[in-house]
Amino acid sequence: MIQIFEFSPFHENTYVIADEATAEAVIIDPGCYEQAEKEALGQFIEANKLDVKYVLLTHSHLDHVFGVAYVKRKFNVNAYLHELDMVIFNDVPTRCALYGLRGFEPSTIDAFLKEGDQFRFGNTVLDVLFVPGHAPGHVAFVNHAERYVIGGDVLFKGSVGRTDFPYCNHADLINSIRSELFTLPDDYTVYPGHMEPTTIGTEKQTNPYVK
Ligand SMILES: [Zn+2]
Ligand SMILES: [Zn+2]
Repeated sequence: MIQIFEFSPFHENTYVIADEATAEAVIIDPGCYEQAEKEALGQFIEANKLDVKYVLLTHSHLDHVFGVAYVKRKFNVNAYLHELDMVIFNDVPTRCALYGLRGFEPSTIDAFLKEGDQFRFGNTVLDVLFVPGHAPGHVAFVNHAERYVIGGDVLFKGSVGRTDFPYCNHADLINSIRSELFTLPDDYTVYPGHMEPTTIGTEKQTNPYVK
């Protein structure tokens, strides 16, 4: 089961993925910023009696990590990020100050993940793909059994991730899409970090940035 929340002034998609058989779950990119958003996420987990195993981060731009401290404390779980994204993660408090986001609670990363890692919870398996460009340590999480990818800010419906931030690389981004995401089957659903889902096949055929 996939639950999508849209959080913060950045309209960031936070994903809860739960294993149907065991109710074990992961939270990907907890972007809850306002107290009410944190409570909405917490209440969803409690109402569905989910057992949160991991906090997984596609990358660590501020809108994707607003809620890391909250979910780590609330569910007593570890947060995972690619090591190459620590340069972004460590800069988040400074970036929040620049945006005037005074409510940000800094947090910590507990372990690094990398290409080829698998996260298992119940019968569900998420495979880690390394897809840098929008961020230096950007990853995606693929569920081959249920045929979808949680893609973060790499590929959007009709668009691609921005590369005008520090540590972005546009050539790397396009290469990540062509050589990693576009090698997935066409019918796989892409759940992006912003806006609505799409599919690999739709973007292969119609996305003007990577056609
Ligand atoms: Zn981003
Ligand atoms: Zn984002």
